[in-house]
Amino acid sequence: MIDLKNIIEKLLRERSLSVEEYEQLIEHRTPEIQELLRCEADKIRKTIYGNKVYIRGLIEVSNICKNNCYYCGIRGENTNCQRYRLTADEILECCDKGYELGFRTFVMQGGEDGFFTDEVMCDLVREIKSRYPDCAVTLSLGERSYESYKRLYNAGADRYLLRHEAVSSQLYGRLHPKEMKIENRLQCLENLKKIGFQTGCGFMVGAPHQTARHIAEDLKFIENFKPQMCGIGPFIPHKDTTFKDYPKGSAELTCFLLSIVRIVLPSVLLPATTALGTAENDGRERGILSGANVVMPNLSPESVRAKYALYDNKISTGAESAQHIAELKAKMARIGYDVVCDRGDYVEK
Ligand code: SAM
Repeated sequence: MIDLKNIIEKLLRERSLSVEEYEQLIEHRTPEIQELLRCEADKIRKTIYGNKVYIRGLIEVSNICKNNCYYCGIRGENTNCQRYRLTADEILECCDKGYELGFRTFVMQGGEDGFFTDEVMCDLVREIKSRYPDCAVTLSLGERSYESYKRLYNAGADRYLLRHEAVSSQLYGRLHPKEMKIENRLQCLENLKKIGFQTGCGFMVGAPHQTARHIAEDLKFIENFKPQMCGIGPFIPHKDTTFKDYPKGSAELTCFLLSIVRIVLPSVLLPATTALGTAENDGRERGILSGANVVMPNLSPESVRAKYALYDNKISTGAESAQHIAELKAKMARIGYDVVCDRGDYVEK
């Protein structure tokens, strides 16, 4: 007989479970348990971040990628993908526009595009920091060497997002070609943290071949690694990938996991990801109500937004207008949260 009550009490008391306990919690999730943990997560977040929701301006700098992750629409071998790369000037224009709209964090994300050498990226980071010294710069450009990360940090980058994707080497191996190794991904995450970045890991929910056990292992990894940020969002199939017929991951389970992560790591910066919510549904609001405290509106130029298609039907409306931000603020206000104009750094507790 599984003692779920004991598991939940242990989670709330110790902020830690064994892999087996995480697995049982996931497998035996009920709407009542989900609501209980959601309320606890919300309470914990409010003690640290109040009702603030931080916004990050996402700039999708390039969809050119040397990797071939089997689930990703911009994987290198997808010949149907129309490739683009923003110029430094275009990226800086996105920041200028974003700053006016109230963004104080810019996230530069892209495929592993060899054009963005350390020299190119360091120049860009330095330019953004000199124009906007009150802003944080987040990078999400994949796996690089220790020295490369160090140079980017020294140039002024504050945060780095690198989802670990799957800590199980067996699952990681089914999602990626053999030259990509989980050991390397984890080493990158260790390096980022050691260098001093606010570091983010994370994974997709409902990824092909993923089981409750795999998710439990990912939660245990997150508990031990203690990232400052954690990106958890549903897997969504893309028509030009191996997994085009695989079902979309569950938004409900994603919200449940967001609550668990908030309980385990009270201070974590937790986005309600774009895959979770669209302008048309209330996914982002549900994510925030489940313990998330970050949203990442898109600041990329309209001409390229549809091309950064990681998955099918990704929304390509952006945050480029004051009206969009006003709508986001109104939506969050309706559920009791306040979108703030702030760097929104990690709070050490
Ligand atoms: N190249 C960088 C990297 O590897 O971290 C950043 C870009 S990568 C496209 C960003 C994230 O998109 C990945 O970490 C992955 O979890 C997510 N992603 C890719 N394909 C997806 C899909 N089909 N559904 C949901 N998320 C996806």
